Amino acid sequence: MEQVQGIVRIANRYKIPLFTISTGKNFAYGGPSPNLRGCVTLDLKRMNRILEVNEDRNFALVEPGVTYFDLYRYIQERDLKVWIDCPDPGWGSPVGNALDHGVGYTMQAFRDHFSAHCGMEVVLANGEVLRTGMGALPGAGSWQEYKHGFGPDPSGLFGQGNFGIVTKMGFRLMPQPEAYYIGKISVPKRLDLIPMVKALNYLSDSGLIGEPLFGTPMNALRGNADFRAVLAKPGGPTDTEFDRFAADNNLHAWEVELQFYGPERTNLANWEYAKDLFRQRVPGARAYEGKSFRIPVSREQLLVKNEMPYPSSAPYDPAFGVPNLKNWRYLGRAAGSPDGKLTGDAGFYPIIPRQGQEILKFQRIFGDAPPGHLSAHEYRRRNRADGRAHYTRVIFSNRLPDARIPLHLAFRQGTQRTRPSRIAGHGRGGGRARLGDYRSPPVYQDIVASAYSFGEHALRRFHETLKDAVDPNGILSPGRGGVWPALHRKHRRV
Ligand SMILES: Cc1cc2nc3c(=O)[nH]c(=O)nc-3n(C[C@H](O)[C@H](O)[C@H](O)COP(=O)(O)OP(=O)(O)OC[C@H]3O[C@@H](n4cnc5c(N)ncnc54)[C@H](O)[C@@H]3O)c2cc1C
Repeated sequence: MEQVQGIVRIANRYKIPLFTISTGKNFAYGGPSPNLRGCVTLDLKRMNRILEVNEDRNFALVEPGVTYFDLYRYIQERDLKVWIDCPDPGWGSPVGNALDHGVGYTMQAFRDHFSAHCGMEVVLANGEVLRTGMGALPGAGSWQEYKHGFGPDPSGLFGQGNFGIVTKMGFRLMPQPEAYYIGKISVPKRLDLIPMVKALNYLSDSGLIGEPLFGTPMNALRGNADFRAVLAKPGGPTDTEFDRFAADNNLHAWEVELQFYGPERTNLANWEYAKDLFRQRVPGARAYEGKSFRIPVSREQLLVKNEMPYPSSAPYDPAFGVPNLKNWRYLGRAAGSPDGKLTGDAGFYPIIPRQGQEILKFQRIFGDAPPGHLSAHEYRRRNRADGRAHYTRVIFSNRLPDARIPLHLAFRQGTQRTRPSRIAGHGRGGGRARLGDYRSPPVYQDIVASAYSFGEHALRRFHETLKDAVDPNGILSPGRGGVWPALHRKHRRV
């Protein structure tokens, strides 16, 4: 930490912009690249001490260079009864991932990684060190107990922001459950997504299930030329056409996997309850009995058919808090890459209301995108702990440099795509709204940030007023999150 302070002082003296990374594996969001060309990368991966894992109070306190693999191994070697919540790939760090508002797979309280943090230590642009929450109370043993401390809590400024360099961060850990159960529900008709999502919101917000994993059995018709033809027409299939294909092929329109964590008997009771709920609310809903796993699961159990994560009715490592790198293979295949390798990946994840109607509306928007620009790959909805639906689009490029142009156009188009809307803060009185992405590679962050324009960009003005006050030389990650210091503001892309 003292060395970080020393670097900040030098950067201030010579007005050298720094771009801080923890493990720098932010692939799909620009990897380790900065927003401003010419930044010096401040790579913290050698600050890799695990300072504490507490299984009585269920938290970990780590430095930025600690990877998910490191933390997992540390816990396993000591047989501690806590779980980490990790993203798809385990290559990154709890600190870097959380500071980019990353998400994982287990229960709501843990899978929004920034929300699950519990206290930070931060080197500020002037070289001072600040601790958030109870950490501001000198010598307090309660640092990881209450992240707000007293008075305004600045921690949000360090997530997707450029107000400090985080040198320690605490995370809530899930107590190791006794068992895990996964079962599947399917519903017959396209519009059944609406009651399905409503029921899932209830189960999720009541703390009865982990992340619901959506899919469609209609994927089985991918090779059916007639079905492909209706999918390809503008607007896609009508609801009636879609339902007819489903009924003719004895398929259901949607399916969702429900994950339960806890004692085996309460998991099974909750599953019974979930089945009843769907039967009451969606005529024709089917339930498929899944598997119950005693925890800990064996390596052999994790090796079963789990490289195709959603939906699978098989264990998926991150659902067990086990970091892995398996989904590269899955994504490579999905991208249709001739050698089976993934060559480019950029996430576009607008947040939309958690309603079936909205999901169907966005599915049409994406489905109508010109082929060549947005290649239909994956629709996936994740429930964020803050209660918003999270609609996923993953776009692939290939090795040819020219492929970057369609990718770029797709991003601009996706981010700036307009639609009639009355969403508060977007458009006025039923004007046109942009999609609000939750996370983005540096090259698109200005475009994304500019969509958050309520009050003639009041949020941006607030951020940049603060930025100029606490970082007058603009040395900390200029442009990150669309926040530009005065010195470099001319570099804003929109
Ligand atoms: C196939 C695939 C699947 C993925 N799945 C997921 C997923 O399920 N969930 C998910 O969240 N992500 C996912 N990702 C994205 C990404 O790989 C992970 O989020 C990864 O953990 C981020 O890298 P990192 O932890 O090394 O963070 P870093 O790259 O170190 O940090 C991310 C950003 O945070 C800021 N930052 C980092 N450290 C500091 C610090 N100490 N102080 C101040 N600012 C800092 C920097 O701006 C940095 O660019 C996926 C990527 C791919 C390619």
